[in-house]
Amino acid sequence: MQHGNVRTGKSKVNTVGAIYCVGRNYSAHAHELNNPIPDEPVIFTKTAASLAPFEGDIHVPKQWGRCDYETELVVQLGRTIYQADEHQSLDSISHLGLALDLTLRDKQSVLKEKGLPWTLAKNFTNACVLSTFQPVQEGQQVDSLQFALDINNHRQQTADTRHMLFPVGVLLSFISQTIPLCAGDIVLTGTPSGVGELHHGDELIAYLEHKKIASARITR
Ligand code: ZN
Repeated sequence: MQHGNVRTGKSKVNTVGAIYCVGRNYSAHAHELNNPIPDEPVIFTKTAASLAPFEGDIHVPKQWGRCDYETELVVQLGRTIYQADEHQSLDSISHLGLALDLTLRDKQSVLKEKGLPWTLAKNFTNACVLSTFQPVQEGQQVDSLQFALDINNHRQQTADTRHMLFPVGVLLSFISQTIPLCAGDIVLTGTPSGVGELHHGDELIAYLEHKKIASARITR
């Protein structure tokens, strides 16, 4: 796969533009990492160089210590929005999928302690793993979707997007107040609780609305 491209379920290639991510968007996850509940969305970015398909073998680095999985609903915009309200924001979504927001947790802890940006803990080769994308169905509600991650046949993460602190429409509207969100841009909408460390040989399977949409094996 070329950087910046993601395959959809119909093997059409979608070009991914900017990659925005949301931190601490489920209260149970904020608590598990001893973080406060934010009063507005926590936004950070990943780079196109970190993109990888959620399939086959995914190699993750060892030299920076713990590397965690975070399973997240990802939405892609079909048109550009700027200073959009929630309704316009939801209307702009063309595709859905799941992402693994891979995180160098040890490095992130050091950066957090120093009050520095998370960039170096969130960007490395294969740090942004994307499933195939599905077109949004007519009438589909992104605010009541269920997704899950199994590792080695054990359920590690489950989520219902109803439990987001900031729902998808709020997130996109919030970002778009300062940054134009362009057609092709994606937003990783935050991880539920159950994050943990990846190990060599881990077999990952991701489910969206109870259907398997991606699987991969970790090498370290
Ligand atoms: Zn995340």
